Amino acid sequence: RVVVAGSANMDLVGLAPALPRPGETVLGDDFVMAPGGKGSNQAIAAARAGGATTFLGAIGSDAFGVTLGARLAAAGVDTGRVRTSYGASGVAVIMVDRAGENSILVSPGANRTFTGLTADEQSVIAGADVLLCQQEIPMETVHAALRAGRAGGTRTILNAAPARDLPAGLLDEVDLLVVNEIEARAITGTEVHDPAGMAALLALVPRVVLTLSGSGARFADRDGRDVHVPAFAVPVADTTAAGDAFTGALAVAWGEGRDLVDAVRWANAAGAVCVQRVGASTALPERAEIDRLYAS
Ligand code: ADP
Repeated sequence: RVVVAGSANMDLVGLAPALPRPGETVLGDDFVMAPGGKGSNQAIAAARAGGATTFLGAIGSDAFGVTLGARLAAAGVDTGRVRTSYGASGVAVIMVDRAGENSILVSPGANRTFTGLTADEQSVIAGADVLLCQQEIPMETVHAALRAGRAGGTRTILNAAPARDLPAGLLDEVDLLVVNEIEARAITGTEVHDPAGMAALLALVPRVVLTLSGSGARFADRDGRDVHVPAFAVPVADTTAAGDAFTGALAVAWGEGRDLVDAVRWANAAGAVCVQRVGASTALPERAEIDRLYAS
């Protein structure tokens, strides 16, 4: 079982000819509403990739919360322990212009109330094969979840996105760190492709997966492995949520006991299916689609 402890947001996406400037009102094009947030997206990604998946997090008591819970459940995610907190759900207000440029306001809402992991939440984490966390909930909760996972012998994965300051000792609880180049630099202060860059990360965590967008990913560990796993060549429609598709699939594959280089290749296939479709949570691939591209 994969447990994802993280954020859930409703994404409100408005398309416009141009982004409004302060004080300006712009008549827009289409509007789309879809579940988002890295936690929810990665939980849906893991469930679609075939993993038995539990989501731990907090949604609001508003209409968005109802929809967020329903969409997770519809994807097959176990939502039995999702907290409902009185007040607003997390919301991302996203504006996109015709050139694809965007402005995003994230209002964390209920995600901010996801603190103080209960004994029940901790035991679910401790009983899982894999715990997957991101950085859109209070960092003390991320730290506590990782600690519960480590104490239970659960493989712990931190997708250190978006980049934030990390509490002291947090990385000590991480078995596998998943980052892009920007997040890697935020952690070590050095460019990850410099000779000392990956070594600086491996001084902090035993295994690293570095996502490289259209170039695939790089896997390195303390046993001296450092492997570039190339991306699948596919036509790109929209790269939104590619990282979530990748990370959710990676968690499932590792939880199944697959070797991490093979798991990264399979996760690359998940990311490559995702980029061929427009949308975020709606673009996340099913296991059969991942398998088909992986086998090609
Ligand atoms: P993030 O958005 O988190 O920075 P990336 O852009 O690195 O994530 O993408 C995550 C993964 O999605 C990549 O490691 C790769 O497997 C896949 N991917 C992203 N862009 C492409 C692309 N253009 N072609 C094929 N695969 C892609």
